[in-house]
Amino acid sequence: MSLDAIEYCQAIYDTALESVKKLTGNGINVDDHQVIAREIAQLSTQLSAAETLQAYADQSMGKPGCDTKRLSTSADIFLAETVENFRLIGNRCFQSFGLNEKTLAYGDSLQTWLRQTLAESNYRVIGVDVLKDAENRQWIASNTDGEEEAEIRDSTRRFARDVVAPKAEEIHRKDLLVPESFLQQMSDLGYFGMSVPVEFGGVGLSYLMMLLVTEELSSASLPAAGSIITRPEILTRALLKGGTEQQRKKWLEPIAKGEIMVGISVTEPNVGSDVASVSCRASETVLNGQRGYLINGAKAWCTFAGRANVLALLARTGEAGHKGL
Ligand SMILES: Cc1cc2nc3c(=O)[nH]c(=O)nc-3n(C[C@H](O)[C@H](O)[C@H](O)COP(=O)(O)OP(=O)(O)OC[C@H]3O[C@@H](n4cnc5c(N)ncnc54)[C@H](O)[C@@H]3O)c2cc1C
Repeated sequence: MSLDAIEYCQAIYDTALESVKKLTGNGINVDDHQVIAREIAQLSTQLSAAETLQAYADQSMGKPGCDTKRLSTSADIFLAETVENFRLIGNRCFQSFGLNEKTLAYGDSLQTWLRQTLAESNYRVIGVDVLKDAENRQWIASNTDGEEEAEIRDSTRRFARDVVAPKAEEIHRKDLLVPESFLQQMSDLGYFGMSVPVEFGGVGLSYLMMLLVTEELSSASLPAAGSIITRPEILTRALLKGGTEQQRKKWLEPIAKGEIMVGISVTEPNVGSDVASVSCRASETVLNGQRGYLINGAKAWCTFAGRANVLALLARTGEAGHKGL
């Protein structure tokens, strides 16, 4: 039956692709049809993911240590959700995709399979299994059985709810600066020094603690709270891993105390995820008798740049690729 489902999606996709090619002059005018382009990209990605998952479930059949029943149920559920989504997008883009009623209609057997596969009881079986797995996994990296984590989560949740949330909407809507009172309180609570080791003036907590605090702050406001503490975190990790002892002594304590605010400047107008392609260059130079680096290149998307006292900027000093950064 999963074959029927894939054929259903493939037929919609093939028809839609032909229409969208005509509509956009083979993609040349794609910018004039961004919504349609996004919808067809979604179809393509989802169909490809559903097929890959089906193939993976088939290949895993009978392999030792593999819960084939759960895998094939999950693959079928994903495929069934894909079919439903194809119909939804198909209805939304009916004319632009050049579809007709027949292509979008479910045959009787497909309809029956969808109902069986998407039954709530199937989701429940998978959910129970996943929870059981999670219970067995020792994922909390701490020797306190999670008490410390629970405590920090609760206290951060209170701060986020009582201090950040009441002002978050206004900050977002009016595009206001992050209030200094937030920064002061976050600093008092030690949020800027969570990853800074105790010997450098921080509180030296685990990745998990950092994650919990970021999650709680972000639930109230990502830009005005959650993202602010991940800036010093990134610079701290970089200094601990690749900095000199002198640099650590100079920067880590004021970062931990919130005395200096940090921004991270990695992204460039043409470089995002592929960080190894960063092209901004740093060349050693001497200016007014002082040795330093001359930075040449464009950067973009630097959160908190307007308030930060220091920017950690990623630049190239050597060869192409990640080693020259
Ligand atoms: C609100 C905001 C704040 C930001 N703040 C900062 C900041 O402070 N400092 C900073 O340096 N940058 C910042 N950024 C930039 C952010 O880090 C980049 O947007 C991110 O690295 C992705 O780059 P991109 O937007 O160019 O997307 P792209 O790299 O072009 O990616 C586009 C899409 O393709 C996918 N993709 C890319 N490569 C692959 C691959 N190999 N395989 C599969 N899928 C892939 C991505 O998942 C994504 O869906 C910020 C961005 C935003 C939106």
